[in-house]
Amino acid sequence: MSQSGKPQRVGAVKQITSHSNPIVKEIKGLVSQRKHRIQSGLFVAEGLKLATDALDAGWGVRYLALGPEAREHPLAQTAAAKAKARGALILEVNTAVLAAMTRKDNPQMVVGVYDQQTVEPDQIDPSKSTVWVALDRVRDPGNLGTIMRTVDAVGGSGVILVGDCTDPFAVEAVRATMGSLFHVPIAKMSKARFLELAGNWPGSVVGTHLKGSVDYRTVDYGEPALLVMGNEQQGLEDDMAGACKTLIRIPQAGQADSLNLAVATGISLYEIRRNHLEL
Ligand code: SAM
Repeated sequence: MSQSGKPQRVGAVKQITSHSNPIVKEIKGLVSQRKHRIQSGLFVAEGLKLATDALDAGWGVRYLALGPEAREHPLAQTAAAKAKARGALILEVNTAVLAAMTRKDNPQMVVGVYDQQTVEPDQIDPSKSTVWVALDRVRDPGNLGTIMRTVDAVGGSGVILVGDCTDPFAVEAVRATMGSLFHVPIAKMSKARFLELAGNWPGSVVGTHLKGSVDYRTVDYGEPALLVMGNEQQGLEDDMAGACKTLIRIPQAGQADSLNLAVATGISLYEIRRNHLEL
């Protein structure tokens, strides 16, 4: 705090007022195109909460853009100071530039650009795991983000993206994680690599399947568990289902064909972790 009682301003490194500034264009590209995220290894996360989560969890930060409201906001200034100390360029921008960067009419007051972080398949250590969720070709970024948030909530170990999946660093996925992206490890692997992992897994390997014959409430889930979820349209591929020691089903009444992927994952995870969660 300054002597006047106002939060101390972090010295602005760069003020941007033009939509055609190259950094604004770069951030727009990261928001809208996976190609840019892959080439740069960067991604965009909106909001002060996510900035705080990212910085507290030690993620690399490239830019922190602060809108007018953030410039007098103590927590935003703390985030900016941390980001600057970590080598980020702090951008002071107006609301119109923030809106252009994020393609939103009502942008958040803070927008960050961070280094992507994933774990290698070999870094998955079953002996230090509770439950990993493997997603077979997940397509919907909102589903993926919601699943990451739920894995975080139950104390899960991480998420495995098998085959051609949606980008966990897409803005919609990041938004849906509500910050859990910065706490839940993500591993990407081919189906062949996953089948090898599942074949050597020392604990339970449980697939969820509409044709599963076992009620999910009757299984003894030994940890470390591997919970395997199917694609939104096609379900679990046969060889993926074949790699599971048990295929569970969540009973349904009513006329719905199936549950939403993220909902089915949440129900299964809470059952798997039932004896480990207390209020
Ligand atoms: N048409 C797909 C099918 O035939 O499997 C529906 C897929 S469903 C929307 C997406 C995934 O959620 C499924 O592959 C499965 O992993 C899980 N799931 C959804 N409802 C389920 C249920 N009642 N029991 C077990 N798993 C379920």
